[in-house]
Amino acid sequence: MFYNKRMKLSSSARIQTALETMGIYTYEDVLMHLPRAYEDLSITEHVLKVDRQRVVLSGVVATQPKLFRHGRFSSVTFKFLAHDQQLYSVVAFNRPFFLRAIQLKTTYRLLGIYDQKRSSINLTSLLKDDGNLPILKPIYRLPDEIQGYVFTRLVKKALSFLPTLTFSLKLPESFYGDHHVMSVIEALKVLHFPTSLDEVEHASRVFKFEEAYAYFVYMKQLKEAQQAWKKPQSNTIAYGTIVDKIERLPYRLTSDQLLATDEIIHDMNHHHVMHRLLQGDVGSGKTVVAALALFANVQRHQQGVLMAPTDTLAKQHYLTLSQLFTGEKIRLALLVGSLTAAEKKAIKEALIEGTVDICVGTHAVFSEDVSYHDLGLVVIDEQHRFGIQQREKLRQKGPYADYLMMSATPIPRSLAMTVYANMDVSTLTQFPFLERKVETLIVQEENALIDYHIQLALEAQQRVYILAPAIEESLTGKQTVDALFHMYQTKYPTQVAMMHGRLKPEEKEAIFSEFAQGKKPILVSTTVIEVGLDVKEATLMIIHDANTFGLATLHQLRGRIGRDGSPATCLFVIQEENLFDHERLNVLVKTNDGFVIAEQDLALRGPGEIFGERQAGMPSFHVLNLVKDHKIIEAVRKFMHPHLL
Ligand code: ADP
Ligand code: MG
Repeated sequence: MFYNKRMKLSSSARIQTALETMGIYTYEDVLMHLPRAYEDLSITEHVLKVDRQRVVLSGVVATQPKLFRHGRFSSVTFKFLAHDQQLYSVVAFNRPFFLRAIQLKTTYRLLGIYDQKRSSINLTSLLKDDGNLPILKPIYRLPDEIQGYVFTRLVKKALSFLPTLTFSLKLPESFYGDHHVMSVIEALKVLHFPTSLDEVEHASRVFKFEEAYAYFVYMKQLKEAQQAWKKPQSNTIAYGTIVDKIERLPYRLTSDQLLATDEIIHDMNHHHVMHRLLQGDVGSGKTVVAALALFANVQRHQQGVLMAPTDTLAKQHYLTLSQLFTGEKIRLALLVGSLTAAEKKAIKEALIEGTVDICVGTHAVFSEDVSYHDLGLVVIDEQHRFGIQQREKLRQKGPYADYLMMSATPIPRSLAMTVYANMDVSTLTQFPFLERKVETLIVQEENALIDYHIQLALEAQQRVYILAPAIEESLTGKQTVDALFHMYQTKYPTQVAMMHGRLKPEEKEAIFSEFAQGKKPILVSTTVIEVGLDVKEATLMIIHDANTFGLATLHQLRGRIGRDGSPATCLFVIQEENLFDHERLNVLVKTNDGFVIAEQDLALRGPGEIFGERQAGMPSFHVLNLVKDHKIIEAVRKFMHPHLL
């Protein structure tokens, strides 16, 4: 956006390097590193002492802090004499360093959440109050090397040069003439030192427009590059053969499945390479649609690949395809890490010779030494699980192959047009079965409900998934998969198995089959089970530290239970001090609608879980919220593609 004359921004080499790593070389860059959020520091006039009230106090620490340890946890407690002349009890969970950091008789601004049951405040942060604290404190995304106050100092310095700095906007003036925005200079002053959130809202508009524009420009370039791939003449797929195949399927397709199949065949018959995303909630029946695409590809005498993120899932797909293609002249192969060297060699040879029509596998399908005779279609299940580079490697093996990506995190159509602007999107909204009945509850650790449900499940010969938190072994005392395994193993000896990502594929498979067959009906695991696995008897899932997961992931996880329509229960176990995450998790208690959940997740956490790994060069969103700023996004889209609307 700006000219990059590299300059010395810090006298510390460490900080200078950290800034450059963030892409910050000039004062312009410093100012363009906008706050990701603001902390409201205005003092709470009335502490109502109601549960979960956010409070900001000004005052002094009145008693010497004390440290308590309870196993893996700790708490520091002290009394705080506040501006309202009240003495408050304060607790800081799992931050033992406060014991030494806190100074008596120093004036602080204290931020926390009121806990009515304990009549105390759960501390969130404590700032020295020198009388110059802003009303809204900007929070910047910064690496560990750069502390907040260091960056704030740099921002102040950069602001003093503001009149000499130059910023240019990418969207033309004519556009901004119609969309009221502040000048960039005014906006930057406001965003780094705001006095109200309304002001922030208005000032950030100009940058939101710019971000949306940069994103669409990038997506447009991607799309144009994709369209430059014109297929050499290939055989047209006759719709009739597909319709016949659909009639031979063991069940009737839903109308969404039919429509998606139709869109895919249409794309495959087009001279541009297909880039289509098939999205649908867990259980919406994406696999059979993929199978039909693979079937169609065989009809035009080309090879197809179906790639899954894990060995187990690849095997499951292989079995599904074998069943769906019984009686068809289709040669299937399975290529996964757990095969012997000789087995792999034989399959690779067959792929080059063209004696295999469809290869199902993990990332092994695009390893260096795998080549294809004539690759025509690539299907990628759980696409966000694969990196862009992995997908690119596959492209080298078949430059004219059509691409079908699948995602179990469906988002509403208007959002999909933005997030997947470089692809065409088919969506499955219906469920082939009766709605699944998964009841979700939020419980605290050691709640008796947990064992009650486990016993019910065991008596009914059902299976139980127990999930370890997303973050392993952090300082905050999160449950690790090992610790959970031992805990449950003690309670239910010989019935518990454990699975995590560090196991070899064959070990995972052995463990998984013991679980599936019911020899060990309880499986303690990391999210390796998130994707596609199908164990009909699984009716209970217990997710520890559920607050550490994204909503979309939690929804996918609970999609693993109650698969045959029988009633199932999902328990989100959270530690007491995280009860404030209740509201976010409540979205899942209240709805089973994957679209609503993905949209909420996107609004709260940004597009991480949907994009998977970011493509190099893809512009990122610092101020733009894909869900909340839909009006801005629509305005930019309309400007770029007036014919679309
Ligand atoms: P997902 O979209 O999560 O990948 P799957 O493709 O695994 O879902 O389908 C879930 C289950 O629904 C499978 O057991 C599949 O055989 C079954 N299924 C798919 N489509 C239909 C249909 N139209 N009628 C009945 N069962 C179906
Ligand atoms: Mg699936």
